Amino acid sequence: MKRISRRQCLLGSAALAAGSLLLSCWRAVSPGQKPAADVQANPFAAPGQWYKGAVHVHSTRSDGKLSPEEVMKAHRERGYDFLALTDHNVITDLSALSDKTFLNIPSVEWTYDRNELGQSYHIVVLGVRQNLTLSHETPIQEAIDAWAAAGATIFVAHTYWSGMVYSELLPLDKLIGLEVYNTSSMTDHGKGLAAVHWDDVLVRGKRWWGLAVDDTHWISEPGRPYYDTFGGWVMVKSQKLDEASILAALRQGQFYSSSGPEILDYRIENGVAYLKCSPAQVINFVGHTQWGTQRRAAPGQTVTEAEYRLNGKERYLRGECMDAEGNKAWTNPIYLS
Ligand SMILES: [Zn+2]
Ligand SMILES: [Zn+2]
Repeated sequence: MKRISRRQCLLGSAALAAGSLLLSCWRAVSPGQKPAADVQANPFAAPGQWYKGAVHVHSTRSDGKLSPEEVMKAHRERGYDFLALTDHNVITDLSALSDKTFLNIPSVEWTYDRNELGQSYHIVVLGVRQNLTLSHETPIQEAIDAWAAAGATIFVAHTYWSGMVYSELLPLDKLIGLEVYNTSSMTDHGKGLAAVHWDDVLVRGKRWWGLAVDDTHWISEPGRPYYDTFGGWVMVKSQKLDEASILAALRQGQFYSSSGPEILDYRIENGVAYLKCSPAQVINFVGHTQWGTQRRAAPGQTVTEAEYRLNGKERYLRGECMDAEGNKAWTNPIYLS
């Protein structure tokens, strides 16, 4: 994997201020940490393959309608490359069923503590085989610390649905990010999109990645089988399809998220951000407060690429595209300060 040195990245940042940016780096920084010494190459420029993954899914081991084996089969047939089964409070380990073309990552979803509204914090905990016997009343950071010490990769679930606000999210340490999109929360009552929550913490300096998930419980109604399923996923760039490589890529932001469109390229070079995607109606560049821009397709047409010249005030810049059906895809932010 191509790596860009921290010095090169800082030089790029300095060049940004001078108006001649040469920067296509992704800082591998966990939330709450100071910028890390290692700087990760942009996943769109890095070598490796894209792997499609579901990282928040339920089965009959908690409140889902399909058995773990049926969940795995359904994702495999749908073209997914990996699955993290995240039943409530119980770890399901299907790793014995993994093979060269499909990876199962033992995982769990836990609820702890209460937010201002009295709702539990839900966290998704990836890459664990041993459950922790912490009570649901455990203070949220204490629980996260315990899982992090056990080597887990952790993110916060459905922030909008749970009524989380930035003041509750900002203090949380050792998480890789939040769910920018949750299909189940969207089909439940329209609270699936948490882009505002994400930007709320990004503008305040949090370095969080955004993940699209289903949180599927395999809910059906007449004419709409499993309507909370296959609506959000992550596309991870990795050299290998194994648990350590995929989890490392997730921690380092080597992925984008989608509920439909494909993102083909996203980079910043010579002070210009560039995004290329499958046919879309809208492409957004989203930076700090008012900085960024939108490219819209003319009526009856589509756009597949857009550019944005940076002015040095963006602090971070992420890309979005939206297709004619309203499905979206989100790059992770490139941090600029
Ligand atoms: Zn939940
Ligand atoms: Zn869930």
